[in-house]
Amino acid sequence: MKIEKRKKLKELYNQYEEDVAEFKKSAACVKGCADCCIDVGNIDITTLEGIIIHDRGATFEEPLKSEIKARLALNKMQRENVRLSRCAFLKADKTCMIYDIRPFSCRRLYSVKKCDGASPTIHRQALNLANQTVKKIQRLDSSGYSGHISYILFLLDKEEFRKLYLRGKFKPQKIADFGRSHGILINRSVSR
Ligand code: SF4
Repeated sequence: MKIEKRKKLKELYNQYEEDVAEFKKSAACVKGCADCCIDVGNIDITTLEGIIIHDRGATFEEPLKSEIKARLALNKMQRENVRLSRCAFLKADKTCMIYDIRPFSCRRLYSVKKCDGASPTIHRQALNLANQTVKKIQRLDSSGYSGHISYILFLLDKEEFRKLYLRGKFKPQKIADFGRSHGILINRSVSR
């Protein structure tokens, strides 16, 4: 995966933060409030974001590395059974162990009211900007896919898929069955 794409992804993250800075000033979010990370059912990522997380995971030492793998497998199973569960990367103190590279799904979330189990309350303009940014990320990752964090990391853990993706090859037929059953989106088809 070209360094250029990773750089561009960061620029998109930064641009979004700049665009919504005024809205976020009224956010009720505080460090350690992890409602979004526990109701992780909606944390969808692109393969571009996934490969960055995959690479970070490869640097984890044991036993953390195995623990994260097991937690991701549990997330995947819970998601397949339409259940929510805490994100594999959420630490016991409710902070994120991959905060600097967290995906856009996590960056776009904030709430002007304390959630207390409800959905976050976000400015409509920020929501629109976030949706536009998602499309831009999907366009940037045009030979990739989008889906739940546990599904995308599951695919990237497979050497054949990872190598194909890193070489910029686009062969959706290789994951057709998994893609259909797990709601995986083809970025180039949904990013317009
Ligand atoms: S990646 Fe980090 S910020 Fe995102 S849901 Fe997981 S713990 Fe929360």
